[in-house]
Amino acid sequence: MAILEDPIKEVLELENYINGEWVKSDSDQFSDVVNPATGKTIARTPMSTRKEVNAAIEAAKDSFPDWRRTTPLARVRCLFRLKELLEENFEELSRVQTIEHGKTIDESRGETRRGIEMVEVATGIPSLMMGYNLEDIATGIDEYVIYQPLGVCCHIAPYNFPFMVPLWFAPFAVATGNTIVIKPSPRDPISQVKLAELVDEAGFPPGVWNVVHGHKDVVSVLLEHPDIEAVTFVGSTKIGRDIIYKKCGETGKRAIAQCSAKNYMVVMPDCNVGRTIPALMTSFFGNTGQRCLAGGNLVIVGDSKFYEEFLDAVVDTTSRIRIGYGLDEATQMGPMQSIDGKERVLAYIEKGIEEGANLRLDGRQFSVRGDYPDRYFLGPTILEGVATDMKVAKDEIFGPLMSVMRAKDLNEAIEMANGSDLGNAHAIFTSSGKDAREFQYRVQSGNVGINIGIVAPMAFFPFGGMKDSFFGVLHGQGRDVIRFFTESKVVIQRWL
Ligand code: NAD
Repeated sequence: MAILEDPIKEVLELENYINGEWVKSDSDQFSDVVNPATGKTIARTPMSTRKEVNAAIEAAKDSFPDWRRTTPLARVRCLFRLKELLEENFEELSRVQTIEHGKTIDESRGETRRGIEMVEVATGIPSLMMGYNLEDIATGIDEYVIYQPLGVCCHIAPYNFPFMVPLWFAPFAVATGNTIVIKPSPRDPISQVKLAELVDEAGFPPGVWNVVHGHKDVVSVLLEHPDIEAVTFVGSTKIGRDIIYKKCGETGKRAIAQCSAKNYMVVMPDCNVGRTIPALMTSFFGNTGQRCLAGGNLVIVGDSKFYEEFLDAVVDTTSRIRIGYGLDEATQMGPMQSIDGKERVLAYIEKGIEEGANLRLDGRQFSVRGDYPDRYFLGPTILEGVATDMKVAKDEIFGPLMSVMRAKDLNEAIEMANGSDLGNAHAIFTSSGKDAREFQYRVQSGNVGINIGIVAPMAFFPFGGMKDSFFGVLHGQGRDVIRFFTESKVVIQRWL
């Protein structure tokens, strides 16, 4: 099958989007954005200076009073225009994700669709943001709640969904009347540049939506700045808990920190095998395992016969996954996004073997379709005989590595999952409603899959984990995020 056309023809010099203008950074520090399939540099990202981050915050602060006074209906008209532009540019946006991240074009199209859905749901703000009231809390006295925007908010993004994750927050932030500064991941920031170009075209007033590039120094400025009221972060637990949530606590900022995951996929002997195996393939190996919703540990419940037959089928299906360039529509798994990420997975394969696991499928042996350097590529690996106390079972690995465990019954499987420090998205595969309910009732994860391997976030439901997978109170998306981006004010009135 033909390779789709690459949407970027020459190396891009990325600029910040501040106050409705594209501004070249004065920084002398840049990092390269590399297409992991071809190994070619496709853009240079500036590590923006303190002055530039401050300018973005100031622009967002200056635009807040007018934007806040713009009626909710008028605010969402900008989002309606943005939605149309996103649809018109759907394919280009998707291809950009593939070339800067490595994911397959189908995965990118899914990401674009999910991102657009956030914008669609945020257009409901005139209804979603309403308060409530009660007449006669005492004779002749009424009381009501109104929701008001906070001011300047910021979002700090991870690399694994470069287009969608900022859209989990930004449309809701601006629809509720806030202004925002987005800091994309320096590893794949082009998607946020393309998005901001469309935001600009959609006619948002200058300063409402800003993008500043960079890494930890930019984050420090955002976290310390007194004019940032709320911070949303998606990334690793190490950064989310120890830096973002801690600093927001010290400075009194609202925070959502959606963090790492190590998801258990529990397979019961009464599952529909024909439907379960494809679901496990996308869960463990989709996005090359770089998803907070990815399966990490596969727990097979049942006797030896079921275990052997099921695992044989999993190994066989996994070994046939087609690895290649994401712009080749026949590819089923793209490269890792970075060499560091690949090396991390390789180290965990070694560690797993050292800890006593059995290598059932060795992803270090693989072939890439087409003529591409193999530096970023890695095949899917299956380790069998993994125990809950091994590092491969406990740590988030974030790559195409499946650790297989056995449990004698559902109770043991739930206890294994609940022994994890992380609790993002555990799942069960079964045809028993009773077992499914028991799992849903007891399992400690913020998202639960029942015969679903990826508990995909939908814009109209809240999304966030438990334990060390989440820090905060209100989750992203759904009604939670609208509440997060607004302050509630209670009014009690009596007219004499
Ligand atoms: P990361 O924590 O390395 O980086 C996230 C963001 O933090 C980036 O913008 C980065 O520039 C910034 N950052 C990195 N180091 C920093 C430091 N020392 N100080 C301040 N800021 C810093 O995460 P990542 O590797 O980009 O993304 C993968 C992680 O994100 C995984 O752990 C994954 O599970 C998690 N994730 C979670 C969810 C969720 O909803 N729970 C969704 C997607 C990804």
